Amino acid sequence: MTGPNGTGSVGEGDRPQPVGASFHQMWRDLLPLGRHPASHGYRRFAWTGVDGDCRAWFEGQAAARGLRYEVDRNGNQWAWLGDPAHGDAVVTGSHLDSVPDGGAFDGPLGVVSAFAALDELRGRGARFTRPLGIVNFGDEEGARFGLACVGSRLTAGQLTREQAHRLTDGEGVTLPRAMEAAGYDPDAIGPDPERLARIGAFVELHVEQGRALDLSGDRVGVASAIWPHGRWRFDFRGEANHAGTTRLADRRDPMLSYAETVLAARREAELAGAVATFGKIAVEPNGVNAIPSLVRGWLDSRAADQDSLDAVVAGVEKAAGEYAAAHGVDLAVVRESFTPVVEFDHALRDELARILGKDTGLTVPVLGTGAGHDAGILSGSIPTAMLFVRNPTGVSHSPAEFAAEDDCVAGVLALADVLEGLACR
Ligand SMILES: [Zn+2]
Repeated sequence: MTGPNGTGSVGEGDRPQPVGASFHQMWRDLLPLGRHPASHGYRRFAWTGVDGDCRAWFEGQAAARGLRYEVDRNGNQWAWLGDPAHGDAVVTGSHLDSVPDGGAFDGPLGVVSAFAALDELRGRGARFTRPLGIVNFGDEEGARFGLACVGSRLTAGQLTREQAHRLTDGEGVTLPRAMEAAGYDPDAIGPDPERLARIGAFVELHVEQGRALDLSGDRVGVASAIWPHGRWRFDFRGEANHAGTTRLADRRDPMLSYAETVLAARREAELAGAVATFGKIAVEPNGVNAIPSLVRGWLDSRAADQDSLDAVVAGVEKAAGEYAAAHGVDLAVVRESFTPVVEFDHALRDELARILGKDTGLTVPVLGTGAGHDAGILSGSIPTAMLFVRNPTGVSHSPAEFAAEDDCVAGVLALADVLEGLACR
């Protein structure tokens, strides 16, 4: 059967199993892949054997549903219902790789939910008027080569082939060699504007990496934006000396100004409704009986908008300068990285909220996130949106990451509604 513009329709043959069962079975099949027996965390790193197992799982799911399977020039996997050459395709999906000892949900929830949502729509007898794609983006977490979202960055032209070819893992294996070993052609990688031009909307479902939905009592929410975020290095330089013989009054101890700065960061973040973290520190000479000569601390800060983030960082810098001066310590602050705010497409976001609130009349929570995603990368090229599924503890990038199966199924149904609303008009 063919839809009005030549795309495939669904609802043929046997009625597929209920959405909960379909989700459960896929989840169960994927769960053991790459799970470390001791930590119970996932180690699904790009272009490894485990990554290959996950990719084989994806290909199997595509085949089981009669979808057209392809791998693009950057190693991202696609499964198509209907012909993407017709254009204006609706695509959903996420990633299957993980951070070291990551959780089961970050990434896989979006891919499994994509297939389950298609099953649900087939059960409803939905007729598609736009091509539907399911995607697994390669190397989203950047656990192996140190750069996140490599698959989507390459496709969107935000990472060049030359830059990608220079990426090297901890064992000295370069990205091209790793891709080659996994059976892919590293010389083919690069921007893929023709592919993106065929996509009218990308919707990524993801486990929430925070507790906003738990606090509001909602199972599913819509993303507004990815917060602007950056990293700043604070170097406090004082004078090394003997911890036993140097009078307190004679010291130039950078640890004191650093410690006060950590507290200032907390204070400034609270004032701005932002987050600020000193999570990494280096001390010289790093001796238990030596006053430090240098304390180097890295500030990670993120906020809902640029002004708030600027206010936090300016406040922390000002406080650090005052504390340093009070202790006779020199201070230098360097911004090491910065990513501006990513606003998801407003029209698509509003459309999602409308579709999801249609039957219930309830307002769907719209929330920002401090974490990066493939959807954020693609938002520079095509209209993108995200759905979040409740995470009761907010823990992520850890084996403790969790979402209740009922909430996952609610996410699948929400995604199915969205896909039906977008692609079956
Ligand atoms: Zn993710």
